[in-house]
Amino acid sequence: MYVLRRWAVRHARLLESVYSVLDRALDALRPLARLIGYARLERPVAAIERAAKGALFDCRMCGACVLSVTGMACPMNCPKSLRNGPCGGVRADGGCEVEPGMQCVWIEANHGAARMRAGALPTKPNPPLEHQYQGRSSWLRVLRQEPWPASLVTQAPPRSDEALAASRLESLLRSGTFVVTSECSPPDSADPGDVLTRTHHYEGWVDALNVTDAPGAHCHMSSLGVSLILARHGWEPVMQMTCRDRNRIAIQGDILAAAALGIGNLLCLTGDGIGNGDDPGAKPVFDLDAVSLLDTARRLRDDGLYRSGRMLTGRPRLFLGAVDNPFVPPFDLRPMRLGRKVAAGARFVQTQYCFDVPMLERYMHAVRAQGLHQRCHILVGVGPLTSARSARWMRNHVPGVHIPDELITRIERASDPKAEGVRICVEQIVRIRAIEGVAGIHLMAPKNEHLIAEIVSESGLLSGRAQPVQH
Ligand code: SF4
Repeated sequence: MYVLRRWAVRHARLLESVYSVLDRALDALRPLARLIGYARLERPVAAIERAAKGALFDCRMCGACVLSVTGMACPMNCPKSLRNGPCGGVRADGGCEVEPGMQCVWIEANHGAARMRAGALPTKPNPPLEHQYQGRSSWLRVLRQEPWPASLVTQAPPRSDEALAASRLESLLRSGTFVVTSECSPPDSADPGDVLTRTHHYEGWVDALNVTDAPGAHCHMSSLGVSLILARHGWEPVMQMTCRDRNRIAIQGDILAAAALGIGNLLCLTGDGIGNGDDPGAKPVFDLDAVSLLDTARRLRDDGLYRSGRMLTGRPRLFLGAVDNPFVPPFDLRPMRLGRKVAAGARFVQTQYCFDVPMLERYMHAVRAQGLHQRCHILVGVGPLTSARSARWMRNHVPGVHIPDELITRIERASDPKAEGVRICVEQIVRIRAIEGVAGIHLMAPKNEHLIAEIVSESGLLSGRAQPVQH
């Protein structure tokens, strides 16, 4: 099947022509289908469609076929069910984060789309799957001229509460302050004291703290709970929300709860695969992807509507963010995917760890060419490498991390690897800050939080501030 699937992508142009003939045939068959009755046709047509598309595309009969806009690569073969990929975990050789033996479906989609008439994947985002259509024939839906799920907005309209910043982080970024954010990992505990003891390394050094949402698919205290504890103690939390563990009903409820409890920053992610975690038997949900999650949060805020169209009586105030990974393939698709996230509502972006500044410069060049740096604030992820061994471990085990060999060699040859790691991090921050369009640094130092103060101080990130960091 996999061989045929790859054949289909290589022959996407031919299949596009076959599909346009099929389209015309369906048009001609419409009167006959009406005569027989669509309900009677559903089972036999779905069976034929399943056999034909199953063989060619490994089709899963999602009932909302998007092959014509995904280069004849079925996105249902993506283990995270991304309708707007690729994720940030693509391996350096183009292999899938979750199933390394398979090429990333979205790299295939990119190749297929390049062969088709449009010549590239469309920038227009795909809507999330409507699960009630699963198993039903897409061909019959076309024949029946049934409304297809509306595409997500291609450009989020201005926010209804644009004049008011939703959070302290948003105010700082709007004022042009070069911000510093970091990450607070949630504890395996029900004691709020265990959250607060983790924060003392950050005091006076960072503008906001990201609260990770079951990072690496490991269970911990929820990001909503940790964010609330932090907010109550004067911290500025950035609540992360992944699509891996909740469906759209739970997600929307949690967004409203977060905003009601005074959490103003929401970072929307797809999330790591379940297989990376400590409970690989858990069910991966991925009902939405990061783009449709952003669109969902934006609709709640700007339109006062749930995804279903039902109205809210009070809208959440939110500063919406997303993540991006400029350091893994397909490099040419990364700015386009960022564009989709910005269109869906992202107004700040945090990147994966940057250990390769020239690569970041190339990415930022493409981002500036599309004007994306003017529509969202870009915060670049950095962190200290404390030994060559841990650097190699990160490169091999953390999805989406790219560390050049020269950097590892430099640390290996240093008499004090930890101090060298800090030096490298400081050098990189200084170079990154000089890149046009970068609005801040996202400093990640899990298990090395004691290095935060030294790195921020040595790199002069806070010098020249009119006011000290608030907490
Ligand atoms: S790398 Fe990510 S986007 Fe690509 S197929 Fe795997 S899970 Fe899906």
